[in-house]
Amino acid sequence: LLQLSVPLNFIGFVYREIRQGLTDIEQMFELLEVEPEVVDKPGARELVIARGAIAFKDVHFAYDPERPILKGISFDVPAGKTVAIVGPSGAGKSTISRLLYRFYDIQGGAITIDGQDLREVTQASLRRVIGMVPQDTVLFNDTVAYNIRYGRPSATEAEVHAAAEVAQIKHFIRTLPDGFDTKVGERGLKLSGGEKQRVAIARTILKSPPILILDEATSALDTTTEHDIQSALDVVSKNRTTLVIAHRLSTVISADEIIVLRDGQIAERGTHVALLEKEGLYASMWNRQREATQAEEQLRKVRESD
Ligand code: ATP
Repeated sequence: LLQLSVPLNFIGFVYREIRQGLTDIEQMFELLEVEPEVVDKPGARELVIARGAIAFKDVHFAYDPERPILKGISFDVPAGKTVAIVGPSGAGKSTISRLLYRFYDIQGGAITIDGQDLREVTQASLRRVIGMVPQDTVLFNDTVAYNIRYGRPSATEAEVHAAAEVAQIKHFIRTLPDGFDTKVGERGLKLSGGEKQRVAIARTILKSPPILILDEATSALDTTTEHDIQSALDVVSKNRTTLVIAHRLSTVISADEIIVLRDGQIAERGTHVALLEKEGLYASMWNRQREATQAEEQLRKVRESD
């Protein structure tokens, strides 16, 4: 009996790994609304990571040739630094993160990591070094532990728990009916946007990639959740090259550089303080968002006192 059950379990395990792998990729493409259309160049090399420096050089990109989205974008994310992209809705912020992950090829200019053009290296080697915390994380119909361990399948239970702790989600998991063994996803317990994002952060902590892309959720989070997520992100992005696609300006204050995108071009760039002093687009976005936040807080207080 023992002899038979071991191989069968193993086959089940492999099957599940493959199925989940496919689901992951399919769901991710669906999520990002992109079609897999990029292919490796014949003889493409493996990306070799030295320090993880990213460079966008005069990047031109359009989904549809009639409608250019990025019109000559140049910026660097030096190794270990954090650059935040901000700008009005539709400016092309998330597009930048998709291009770095090479979901699409650009039409002009170059994107490099440690001097290697993304088009010259294999997609597998590129994606291995990038950790992506997307706006809306898709969870597998499996346990919380499985969903976190996905970042590094060989991780021990202790490592999974430690990652959950750093991602500020351990306390919440403890309150679930079966703790780390609680089934989540579409057919299990549904988690909120903020909780899912913290599961994604825990996953990324386990993967421990040299490069990180954080695409913030557009949806409003309450102040405590936002604070928890922010402190988790601060831990993950420390000493890693990080590109933040920012929707909430409160998270970009500490970025080494902020790029303000408008109509596919860089309208302003600099640190938070320098950009406020400039009293331009960033400053007006900042003031508007602060007013909106204050109005929300007031509304919440009124509701709470009712
Ligand atoms: P938001 O802050 O609202 O998330 P964004 O700055 O991240 O916006 P992007 O998602 O980069 O904006 O989109 C930039 C533009 O490209 C938008 O006008 C969008 O409609 C268009 N776009 C995005 N994805 C596709 C696609 N797959 N096919 C065609 N057009 C697209």
